[in-house]
Amino acid sequence: MSWKYFNPVKIVFGEGALSELEGCLKGQRILLVTDSRLSSSGLAGRVQDILKDKEVILYDKIQPNPSSGSVNECGRLAGEGRAETVVGLGGGSCIDAAKAAALVARTGARIEEFLGGARKIEGRGLPVVAVPTTAGTGSEVTPVAVITNEEKDRKQPLGSEYLFPDIAVVDPELTWSMPAAVTASTGMDALSHGMEAYWSRNALPVTDTLAIACMVKVLRYLKRSVLNGNDREARREMSLASLLGGMSFALPKTAAVHACSFPLTHIFGIPHGTACALTLVPFLEFNYDVMKEKMDYLFMCAGYGSLQEFSSVVASLQREIGLPARLSECGIGKEDIEKLADESFHPNILNNPREVSRKDLLGIYERLW
Ligand code: NAD
Repeated sequence: MSWKYFNPVKIVFGEGALSELEGCLKGQRILLVTDSRLSSSGLAGRVQDILKDKEVILYDKIQPNPSSGSVNECGRLAGEGRAETVVGLGGGSCIDAAKAAALVARTGARIEEFLGGARKIEGRGLPVVAVPTTAGTGSEVTPVAVITNEEKDRKQPLGSEYLFPDIAVVDPELTWSMPAAVTASTGMDALSHGMEAYWSRNALPVTDTLAIACMVKVLRYLKRSVLNGNDREARREMSLASLLGGMSFALPKTAAVHACSFPLTHIFGIPHGTACALTLVPFLEFNYDVMKEKMDYLFMCAGYGSLQEFSSVVASLQREIGLPARLSECGIGKEDIEKLADESFHPNILNNPREVSRKDLLGIYERLW
């Protein structure tokens, strides 16, 4: 079997890595993209202090599941201020918004023109430096950004090798302030990335290795970092798990779990990682039939003897870190299941190793209710 692997992102990792940010930037004028929580917590101010010799334009209005309007506003600000680099400081929402704004700034187009593959991305946007403050999305090393298209009222992906950030500055200290609920949800996103990269139809031997390392770390360190946010080792290992998870799915892409997460988030407002966690165990069991040998290898690497043992460890983790395991706990009515199934046919579902029919989805959602 021959294969190609590619990830061009330079990674600066470790406690204190933020102090190296200035040396990672091109040019004098910088657009700093973040959210109001991180700006009122003083983190954006800390970054501005580190960049005191630069001209920093601050945009701190990114919301979770960032909107196309905010991305266009950021892009316009970058253009007007002649920004030379865009820094995304925050969770996946701020990093994705920074990647998309860098494209808007360079092309002068509105981001809606590109969403969902409507227009091909033909070149790099402004240079992007990603500084994650959550541990889950891996967006700092992926060629993807997920933006809410306000015109179509749905989340849509942007995907292109031109969207890889130039540099990822991963400083686990920045995740210490995450509340337990955000830690739990984002951590399960990392587990879902490792899982889906591993069983994706486009998995590669090198991404399998990254995916296994990601999953083993999440199973070992997520609960610790939720129960004690000051556990430095657990926080560091979760930042690493997130990074490895991002590197693992960047090329193979995610599959049915992520396809199902989009309507769960968009229609019912369930945070991204929590939404992914909901269908992880059902798809583990659903997919096992078509890849027993490969899955058994994962269970062995993680130190578990069988599908039942591995599934029950994932299900217990989900409960112990305070995430819902049933649709009925998330404000979803039984009458919503048909619509949920209809809206789950995002293109990622085609990467699932076992074909998923509407009947399969109805069965999974009914069991989960
Ligand atoms: P998020 O960025 O939406 O942030 C969630 C909340 O956590 C926000 O209120 C934020 O202010 C807060 N927060 C972030 N860091 C904090 C910190 N250190 N201390 C206190 N509060 C903090 O959450 P996320 O899960 O990181 O990102 C989710 C988004 O990323 C979704 O839109 C999802 O679709 C996208 N995503 C993108 C990729 C990719 O490859 N581009 C991969 C997975 C998910």
